[in-house]
Amino acid sequence: MIRFPKPIQNLIDQFCKLPGIGPKTAERLAFFMLRQPKYSIEEFAASLSQLSNSVIHCSSCHNISEKTPCILCSDKTRDQSKICVLAEPHDLAAIENTGEFKGLYHVLGGVLDPLNGINPDRLQINDLLAKLQKNKLVEIILAFNPDMEGEATMIYLNNLLKPFKVKITRLARGMPVGADLEYTDEITLMNALKNRKEINGN
Ligand SMILES: [Zn+2]
Repeated sequence: MIRFPKPIQNLIDQFCKLPGIGPKTAERLAFFMLRQPKYSIEEFAASLSQLSNSVIHCSSCHNISEKTPCILCSDKTRDQSKICVLAEPHDLAAIENTGEFKGLYHVLGGVLDPLNGINPDRLQINDLLAKLQKNKLVEIILAFNPDMEGEATMIYLNNLLKPFKVKITRLARGMPVGADLEYTDEITLMNALKNRKEINGN
């Protein structure tokens, strides 16, 4: 088997760690990078290093941001009485892009998945409870993927939030089962948000 020079092999190994990238694609990407002009490679490297140096999590909503509190949390024109709870930053982006929701967000940082060690204490749940105790909230919207982990997380949160006497809603069931919020088109997501249903304590 042919051995590539170490810097190339290192890059192939790094690309291999990315989701959906196999060794062949990793190799193709590495050789593509090699053909790029020096400034372009440096730009690529700089944006990767900025990722770990400049991207932080907002202390309030836990979304990724360049500052904390983030732009959304600092925006006083947003409806402070509604919080949309979601699993990941890219779910937030999907909801925000619909333009349908004008409240605040809370990113849990994942969904419950006990088999893989994701228990409630690994998620930003205590902080959500603290917000409920501190602020006068009217509605909590649970916006999770309609898959097994998403459903389990919504049931768990609903039981936990029930005593707070706040309206708890979930996205309408227009989304196909197993669908990903991230890949759902804006119109479907907008309708799922518009037609959200109250979870009646079950
Ligand atoms: Zn924030």
